[in-house]
Amino acid sequence: MSEPGIQLMPGQISPKIVVSYERCTVPFECKKCLRICPTAVFNVACMKQSRGLESNKKEAGTYKVYAQYRERCTACMRCVEICPVDALTVRMPTPEEAREARESRAPKAPEAKAPQEAKA
Ligand code: SF4
Ligand code: SF4
Repeated sequence: MSEPGIQLMPGQISPKIVVSYERCTVPFECKKCLRICPTAVFNVACMKQSRGLESNKKEAGTYKVYAQYRERCTACMRCVEICPVDALTVRMPTPEEAREARESRAPKAPEAKAPQEAKA
């Protein structure tokens, strides 16, 4: 059986992944999206660090999950389906977003210079 999701072509713009931090408050305690993602898109970062103290994994906002490797996402939707609090949204970029992303990636053309006057 083939894997669900999409096959991104080289240069294609990756899906957009949005995390609702109002809904996902204690990701270190959950990590369901990290475990199920077949391409290891997610990571968890500590947002509150105190020297010499262990960060409280159960305190809301101490950790945040984020899509560190968005370019690996195949839009299989497993993370969206497994999230117990509906905190994840994965969608393909709109044509306008894709165009903007391509333009920001495109190499800039060198600035045109005024033609030099021929020396006599
Ligand atoms: S599955 Fe949902 S609640 Fe759990 S860490 Fe991921 S985004 Fe947060
Ligand atoms: S949709 Fe979610 S589980 Fe699937 S590849 Fe993308 S980030 Fe990973």
